[in-house]
Amino acid sequence: MANGSDSSGKANWKAATKAVRGGLMRSEHGEISEALYLTSGYAYDSAEQAMARMKGEEPGFVYSRYGSPTCEMLQQRIALIENAETCRVTASGMGAISSAILAPLKSGDRVVAATALFGSCRWIIANLMPKYGIETVFVDGADLDAWEREIAKGCQLVLIESPANPLLDGVDIEAVSKLCKKAGAVLVVDNVFATPILQKPLELGADVVVYSGTKHMDGQGRVMLGAILTSAQYMEGVYDPYLRHVGPAAAPFNAWVVLKGLETLKLRVDAQSASAARIADTIGAHPNVAAVRYPHRKDHPHYDVHKRQMTSGGTMIALSVNGGQEAAFKFLNSLELVDICNNLGDTKSLACHPSSTTHRALTDEEQAAMGLDRSWIRFSVGLEDPDDLEADVVNALNSV
Ligand SMILES: *Cc1c(COP(=O)(O)O)cnc(C)c1O
Repeated sequence: MANGSDSSGKANWKAATKAVRGGLMRSEHGEISEALYLTSGYAYDSAEQAMARMKGEEPGFVYSRYGSPTCEMLQQRIALIENAETCRVTASGMGAISSAILAPLKSGDRVVAATALFGSCRWIIANLMPKYGIETVFVDGADLDAWEREIAKGCQLVLIESPANPLLDGVDIEAVSKLCKKAGAVLVVDNVFATPILQKPLELGADVVVYSGTKHMDGQGRVMLGAILTSAQYMEGVYDPYLRHVGPAAAPFNAWVVLKGLETLKLRVDAQSASAARIADTIGAHPNVAAVRYPHRKDHPHYDVHKRQMTSGGTMIALSVNGGQEAAFKFLNSLELVDICNNLGDTKSLACHPSSTTHRALTDEEQAAMGLDRSWIRFSVGLEDPDDLEADVVNALNSV
């Protein structure tokens, strides 16, 4: 088919092809670049058609809170890249993750989550869920005995992130998924740091995968977006009613930006990961560095898990500088090329101090429980020439 979306065998395309061609629905104009449809409603040919569409008896759009053509193209493209049956996009990563972990639950249910999580995910589990009568407990993501113990006590949903914020901890997705299946719990994996290019949680046994498209999928720091991926049955039974009525729908313009972003996702992630691997080694060899964390470096405490689950080490590095917060701030303030910013996955290299920014809501004890202290920097490696990045980082480390 000329529109490229119905050609047989697209599920067998390689990731880069899916990212460029997947989900393309051309209009009668034959545009090469995906069209941006800005409309909230849709005209029906007849009252009978309106009724049939609303009842779900006839395919087609009814209202853009339920779905829209540009968002639909993006959903098909992300689902293809992930090898998932279905995808729904939302206004932000947190719109996707909050929906993914709230929609399946009711008062009296119990959730087990890894201690090391993105700050807002932690807030929902620690502060919001208990308000609605959902019991929640955190475990060390690397401690399989703790997972087994807590899941066996009764559990309806598990949330993990791997590699996790901010120290790139690894969780054994396959092992946790086996425990979940035994207990009848839904396993939700936040795969933002790994991207669908480097890690496929559904193939490791996850039930649901969530993304912030704000990060690598846009990858150029422009728009907010989120995505939920799961089986068609679970999507239609659990998430669609929630998403339609609660309304975290993505804006078509943002979906269009991310569609274009995806076309270079593999190129960017592969190049940024290669730079990150090289810069992590440079950082690790510097005398002013107390520790470096990079998923595919042998000194990462969860190297084995990351090596098994990810095809490369990814675009993120964590480093601890000698001299605590003062030295960490000196490092950040001495960077000339790399920006101080709490976003990540961007073509521009970005660094932040998690303890005083992204994780500031946690007490010192809670930070310590995830291995975090005031000496740590989180570094998102971008697309600048690695020679220039290395020079900037070494210069900043020399100043500490
Ligand atoms: C950014 C991020 C989120 C939240 O996504 P938004 O698009 O900012 O709402 C969730 N999880 C991880 C790991 C993230 O990095």
